[in-house]
Amino acid sequence: MSGKDFSAELEVALRAVQQAAYLCRNVQAGLNPDVLEKRDRSPVTVADFGSQALICKSLSEAFPGDRIVAEEDSRQLRLPENETLVARILEHMAPFAPGAEPAQLFEWLDLGGDEGKSGRFWCLDPIDGTKGFMRGDQYAVSLALLEDGEVVLGALGCPNFPFQSSAKNKTGQIFYAVRGKGAFVQDLDLKQAPQPVQVNPLSDPAQARFCESFESSHSSHSDSQRISEILGIQTAPVRLDSQAKYAVVASGLAEIYLRLPTRADYREKIWDHAAGYLVIREAGGKVTDISGAELDFSAGRELRNNRGVVATNGALHDAVLGAVRQAGIV
Ligand code: AMP
Ligand code: MG
Repeated sequence: MSGKDFSAELEVALRAVQQAAYLCRNVQAGLNPDVLEKRDRSPVTVADFGSQALICKSLSEAFPGDRIVAEEDSRQLRLPENETLVARILEHMAPFAPGAEPAQLFEWLDLGGDEGKSGRFWCLDPIDGTKGFMRGDQYAVSLALLEDGEVVLGALGCPNFPFQSSAKNKTGQIFYAVRGKGAFVQDLDLKQAPQPVQVNPLSDPAQARFCESFESSHSSHSDSQRISEILGIQTAPVRLDSQAKYAVVASGLAEIYLRLPTRADYREKIWDHAAGYLVIREAGGKVTDISGAELDFSAGRELRNNRGVVATNGALHDAVLGAVRQAGIV
């Protein structure tokens, strides 16, 4: 367990994720139903790039020289036909980065081009669950800090939480964890005291609730159905986008998160898991790949040595891995 103090990193990470989540919300508020209907990808693009640029800016100012592995880069934005898009991104960034120029935007974005692997680096998914973002459902801003292959800090901004609230204007929440220090949740405004989150200590698989991707192309719904039958699970899966699934299990609203490969050659991206992984672990849960192996975050931008993900409350982990084997998935 790392005895290091990451309070300065946590403070910066929470503020950066908060800003990015507000930017995403503002972009989403500007979406009219017509745009949503047509699945126009440009609002996603504005929010993706704006979120990544703001977070890279904050990190580089607070910790100059820190490396960043992030999903997006500036290549497409530099094309002349995307001038209007660049202007729109800068407009949405203006409340947090007034007067920024295109060249600065490109520079911030490209700070995210690191290959990761060893040493200290940040790992960022500026909008995880872009399809959920488009539908007005769940998405997350995901930021983690890694040191020598270990996730030491994770922050998940979930603008459409609390998950079970039916309120139209949700407060939004940030789930976060520092290695060895537990997992917590705070409202997105960061004004209230952090509340500890813990997994639900259920040990009867038949009583379990499981969550999985909304998109069946990201995780096999037919394989999870078989696993669910083997375990005798009574309830239908909770389907939601993004690492919000990790937050749901960490806070005891479900006990299992299954991510079952739909293609033999797909490798999970580290930014789709690093923050959520630590939040669940620090909430008392367990995360492995589908064969039961530890996730190896030291292999570069992808989890090259792993396939799929199984995350649980810990108590159910072996039973779930057993069912995965019994279903012939590994
Ligand atoms: P989710 O919202 O949990 O379904 O996950 C969204 C993430 O799925 C995106 O950030 C993509 O990186 C990732 N993704 C894209 N294609 C696949 C795939 N074939 N299998 C697993 N994950 C994928
Ligand atoms: Mg993602």
